Amino acid sequence: MPYVIGLDVGGTTIKGGVFAGSSQCLAEVRMKTYVTENSVNEILANMRAVVEELMRRAAMLGLDHPGGIGIGVPGFVNSTEGVVLEASNLGLYDVNLKRWFEERYHVPCVVQGDARVGAIAEREFGAAQGHSSLLYVVIGTGVGSGMVVNGEVYEGVHSAGGELGHTIVNPDGDICACGKRGCLETIVAGPNLIRAYEKRLGRPTAATAKDLSDRALEGHPDAKMVFREAAQALALAIANYCTLFDPSIVVVGGGVSLAGPVLFEPLLEFFNKYSSPLASERIVIAPAALGDKSGTVGASLLVQGVRTLKEVGGA
Ligand SMILES: [Zn+2]
Repeated sequence: MPYVIGLDVGGTTIKGGVFAGSSQCLAEVRMKTYVTENSVNEILANMRAVVEELMRRAAMLGLDHPGGIGIGVPGFVNSTEGVVLEASNLGLYDVNLKRWFEERYHVPCVVQGDARVGAIAEREFGAAQGHSSLLYVVIGTGVGSGMVVNGEVYEGVHSAGGELGHTIVNPDGDICACGKRGCLETIVAGPNLIRAYEKRLGRPTAATAKDLSDRALEGHPDAKMVFREAAQALALAIANYCTLFDPSIVVVGGGVSLAGPVLFEPLLEFFNKYSSPLASERIVIAPAALGDKSGTVGASLLVQGVRTLKEVGGA
């Protein structure tokens, strides 16, 4: 039975899974990501170790040679060439992962940005099933997003499209990691929620983003306001995207999205305010369904499900 390998290469962990035509992971391997001065060789060696362990486990399950390897990477990726243009968290710049894996394992390899991979996963098996045009936003320590337009992932001409996190929502706001001022990420990313909370408290706190959402759920006014302000900025960016692209669904995932109603209730309120009436009545805003599985599931779909993604059609 043929199978494919999905790799989710994160800044702290490389996760890999064996898949055979569904979202069910038949074998999983995790390894710490070592980012050092010589990151390229270290990370390639780690990825190789994960792939070979997965192949060993697949063989133990009676599965044949893999049909392909899909890889999701946090950063800018030219998926046509299979080149990671820039993944600053990993220290990878202009690395042709596709060629590197194809030369070693003689199977097709597809590389894509992790948020686009998440969009594909939610589209096939998660909250956006049946939708051919969607926006997926993932909010954690940063903000990523993936666009699917008419069934296809849209990357833009320079492979740099779909960066909702770096759309500017406040030109007078804080400086972002990208160097610009007032990007969405400076307001809604987990560490920035904590910073806004500390500003309100007037003192430092050891609270995590999860603690903050627990406090907001308990009704703590400062914590609730932090999420309300984040939801307002997020709604502004999403509404502007919807005005341009008119998708049928926007899926919001990542650690910060687990805050649930303290984020989603004001998000809907402000989305209705900022979007056109036609859009606000029809566009669904939904929490992601796959959680941290979306990385490996989506990566496996890069090689096994791209055709399916185009064929299914839908809304
Ligand atoms: Zn930015």
